[in-house]
Amino acid sequence: MTSARGWLLSNIRYSANTFRYLEELRRHDNWTADEIATYQLKSLQQSVSHAQATVPYYKDDPAIDIRSFDDLKRLPVLERETVRTRPEQFLSSSVSSYKRIRAGTTGTTGGNLKVAYTEKLASANWAILLRQWAWAGVRPLHSRVTFFGAKIVPNHCRKPPYWTSNLIERQTLMSIFHLSPQTAPDYLEFLRTRSESILEGFPSVLSILADFVLQTGLTIPMRVAFTSGEPLYPWIREKVEGAFQTRIYDSYGMTEYCGAIQQCAHGQMHLIPEFGYLEILDKNNEPVRNGEEGFFVWTGFLNAAMPLVRYKIGDRGRWQPGGPCGCGLNFPLVIPTITRESEILRCTDGRLLSPRALNQILKETSSLRACQFVHDRPERVIVRAVSSNGKGPEEMMQVRLKLEQLLGPSMRVTAEIATQPVILPGGKIPLIINMMPRELAGEQAQQSHRAQR
Ligand SMILES: [Zn+2]
Repeated sequence: MTSARGWLLSNIRYSANTFRYLEELRRHDNWTADEIATYQLKSLQQSVSHAQATVPYYKDDPAIDIRSFDDLKRLPVLERETVRTRPEQFLSSSVSSYKRIRAGTTGTTGGNLKVAYTEKLASANWAILLRQWAWAGVRPLHSRVTFFGAKIVPNHCRKPPYWTSNLIERQTLMSIFHLSPQTAPDYLEFLRTRSESILEGFPSVLSILADFVLQTGLTIPMRVAFTSGEPLYPWIREKVEGAFQTRIYDSYGMTEYCGAIQQCAHGQMHLIPEFGYLEILDKNNEPVRNGEEGFFVWTGFLNAAMPLVRYKIGDRGRWQPGGPCGCGLNFPLVIPTITRESEILRCTDGRLLSPRALNQILKETSSLRACQFVHDRPERVIVRAVSSNGKGPEEMMQVRLKLEQLLGPSMRVTAEIATQPVILPGGKIPLIINMMPRELAGEQAQQSHRAQR
């Protein structure tokens, strides 16, 4: 199954178009600041006129000829909730329905949003990823071990393998749903056979894995590590880089495919100028000053199927003041500050589930404005959903069922509808709310571990 699906994806990822674009991208690495601005302005003009000409939602916007970056400010800022509640209105008539690839994303609040994109975008996106590989000194098709959210083996599985191969891409997909002290030796033994591969995954998952490695007193050298999808905290970086004797290249992206930020060989986060135009705005939608935190507002260049103009995704960050980066790139420096929080769910059977593992079960929902998981007792998790229409309660119960299946018989799952998500001081909306003292959760896991032995 994995290889069949992988084969289709690989055709897009490793097509002639991808490599042509990758070559072009490598030439852009030498761009001056002026060349970047010229390219971005031209792309903005094309994207805005494409959106206004072919997308129902924008037809009432003032028809604006974008001659400068300031002209963009005459268009309204687009809230995520608007796209979430009316996704069909954002589909471009220029891409026929059979050519649209559909995906779902839960973003920062756990409210699911449906997106559409094209094969052309998938190819361009992959080329942009391969350019970051090149910055890290690795070539396309270097073998890699992947810890993202793919469902690979059944939840109840308690014996290896917890992984599967995508031979065409020389990739091993690892389950992120089966990590526990009991399964750790199997994972580590397998990883040792893949030493010097690329390691890629969500920071919280690689962090769990790094703990297991460090507990053995040994390391497992990998060629390089790529992270995305969650904040990469300094202590996670240190641990993962130590355990795997390598460097992490982090990146920021989103399933809406309207922008990207990637880390270079000098450890700085660069805006990817070909992907989209970024504004960082305050709460009154005015640009923040250099170094001040604000909301990311993206205008994407690459997704013809669902162009988003001045899209306020819900994440925040700031421009990094200072001179050009030592790596030689003139791409602007920008630091994402708040994205999804990464509390970990500790199951009574010892498994450690990252926010991204739980995130997977929200991908089918469309009527929940937010959905959080409250771990309030060792053996209980509450699904706490904020409904946006009449179908909310039904979807909440489906989420509950999927969570029960994931957590297994040792945990109990209840569900409740709330009017507002739980918001932490500072405005963070965590996916997992861990109300258990950490030691207690750890102890429970230990006891269960002993019982099973
Ligand atoms: Zn740099």
